[in-house]
Amino acid sequence: MRDYIFAYGEYHTGKLHPASLEILTPLREIADKLQKRLILFMLVDDSERLKEVRELEKALCDEIWYLENRELKDFKDDLFGKVIVNLIKETNPYGVFFPATLQGMALAPRVAGELEVGLCAHVNSFEIEGETLYMLRPSYGDNIIAKLYSTTFPIMATLSLNAFPIRENTKKPELKKIKLKEPLNLVSKLRVRSIKPVKREPNKLAVAKVILAGGLGLKTKENFEKLKILAEILEAEIGVTRPLCYAGWAEEDHMIGVSGVTVRPKLYIGFGISGAIQHTIGMENSEFIIAVNIDKEAPLVKMSHVALIVDAEKLLDALLRQLKEGTN
Ligand SMILES: Cc1cc2nc3c(=O)[nH]c(=O)nc-3n(C[C@H](O)[C@H](O)[C@H](O)COP(=O)(O)OP(=O)(O)OC[C@H]3O[C@@H](n4cnc5c(N)ncnc54)[C@H](O)[C@@H]3O)c2cc1C
Repeated sequence: MRDYIFAYGEYHTGKLHPASLEILTPLREIADKLQKRLILFMLVDDSERLKEVRELEKALCDEIWYLENRELKDFKDDLFGKVIVNLIKETNPYGVFFPATLQGMALAPRVAGELEVGLCAHVNSFEIEGETLYMLRPSYGDNIIAKLYSTTFPIMATLSLNAFPIRENTKKPELKKIKLKEPLNLVSKLRVRSIKPVKREPNKLAVAKVILAGGLGLKTKENFEKLKILAEILEAEIGVTRPLCYAGWAEEDHMIGVSGVTVRPKLYIGFGISGAIQHTIGMENSEFIIAVNIDKEAPLVKMSHVALIVDAEKLLDALLRQLKEGTN
């Protein structure tokens, strides 16, 4: 009973959304601890094209299940929702999890509503205590981290994008074609007339290896401009705290944190940043953290690997001077 944990594999014509691989990382840990089988499930129109999805060979799950039907070519909330509800009713999983992509956010409430179970949105970490799975997410205008558990089964949630690193499996998961016992009337009220892909530049900050982040401790826009020069020299990306966006010094796509981007660089250097939870939640998984602050009690200083208790402006001036001298 309730042997499976399902992760929704968002698939379209030979391509898998990377967020589906991200959510396998925490779910793998949960499945191992609770001794469940982790299943990546996908709705596909033509299984021949699954061969094109090389990432599936290293997906961090036990099995990959796919349901195949030509009507499942284009995403239609009502149709996909109906198939997933029936899959859940027939297999009685422990949990069903979706990446918080547009598809995931459309499907999860539809499925939860149909099954009359709870749904936790935008989870960015999990904890297990005894047999209980807790889901953590920012709440009350992102001011607190709520720790929630579900009183209904299957446990359902959407998982925030970019909150978990993709990890690879050491063995190839088994690929299984699934047939529902109950024949479905796959008729949708939606008709897809055409699909026009939108060209979107990926947010460079989210994938940056080195980030120089600025906070209010920089004091002036002029000092923030110095940080930008240093970032350019070091080929780093610029991150900021929310007040700097509100001051108009930086665009919102540079904001790190709960209202901004989640980052995972190899090196994060915070200049004049206190380390409020709304900020640190977006950078706490950085591999190496350096804090530049005059206050040795600042939370970012406490969580850093190296702290420089100095005036950010003076340090910036000294670094830029050194680097300029070095190039002359
Ligand atoms: C609903 C909500 C959502 C939010 N979302 C986000 C978010 O996504 N991202 C985010 O960043 N914030 C967010 N915030 C704001 C967050 O709570 C903090 O207010 C913000 O992160 C603080 O920014 P800061 O560290 O730049 O400023 P401060 O907290 O004012 O810290 C400034 C730091 O600079 C240090 N300092 C002062 N002078 C110097 C000097 N000369 N040299 C070096 N250091 C110095 C100080 O000691 C201090 O530690 C949110 C807030 C709310 C209410």
